[in-house]
Amino acid sequence: MELLIASGKGGVGKSTITASLISLLSKDFKIAAVDADAEAPNLHILFGVHDWDRVEEFSAAKTAYITDACTNCGLCKDVCVYEAIYEKDGMHHIKSYICEGCGACSIVCPVDAIRITDTISGWLKVGTTKYGPLVSAELDVGKPNSGKLVTEEKKIARDWVKEGKAEHIIIDAAAGIGCQVIASISGVNLAILIAEPTPSSLSDLKRMYGLAKHFGVPSKLVINKDGINPDYRGLEEFAEENNIEIIGRVPYDSSVPRAITALRPLVEYAPDSPASRAIVEIADKVKGWFDAR
Ligand code: SF4
Ligand code: SF4
Repeated sequence: MELLIASGKGGVGKSTITASLISLLSKDFKIAAVDADAEAPNLHILFGVHDWDRVEEFSAAKTAYITDACTNCGLCKDVCVYEAIYEKDGMHHIKSYICEGCGACSIVCPVDAIRITDTISGWLKVGTTKYGPLVSAELDVGKPNSGKLVTEEKKIARDWVKEGKAEHIIIDAAAGIGCQVIASISGVNLAILIAEPTPSSLSDLKRMYGLAKHFGVPSKLVINKDGINPDYRGLEEFAEENNIEIIGRVPYDSSVPRAITALRPLVEYAPDSPASRAIVEIADKVKGWFDAR
């Protein structure tokens, strides 16, 4: 089974819940963990991975560079809508971190002085944790194609399943509904959506739910920080309107920030805390789904 944990919004506790679920579920199943937030990966920190087994460069972007044939006519600078080309001391240069590799400059250059080449857009990282294998990724500054990077991560995790190193895949999605999240959700069996009882979180939940629905992925809801806004019923009403099962309510709990500071999954750091107990109940439900497959 491939399970996505997503929120549509950062800061609602998605990685905290993901890390604890993986910690609990890895006692009964071989879990492949995928940190699909290539722009801000953090699962490896909670899992204590300091040394990676493997780090691979990932190229899915192009960049332009100017060769010595340049006559400094300036035509390329005029055509670059990204303003990646600048002139200094009469010479033309390209800011590679801004260049999108569109190739417009190379088309207008009258002396064919511009080359477009592949460039490293990020890194794929494979590690071993006490919970099983972890694949993570890191996008380079300003580079596009984080979605392709996430797709590569999922391929690695799926290979682990084929090789018998894992039975189930749990993907910790990035915030938002951008290309990373789209790459994360395609082909998964179920999305667990995490939201907190606030209007802004509801707004993001609606967008994330719409994305899951678009891809034909069923969703379940976890309400995190339950109780911080006792009169607010927006999440429940949305879940009822859309027939989304609420599979857990994790109360606001001061153990959570302490566990994050201690760099440990909450259910290990404070197993008897109210939040941990709520996550254990969610894990029991996930176990039932895993057993049923
Ligand atoms: S390839 Fe495109 S983005 Fe890059 S410098 Fe040329 S025109 Fe600008
Ligand atoms: S268009 Fe070609 S020749 Fe002109 S400044 Fe750009 S790289 Fe140099």
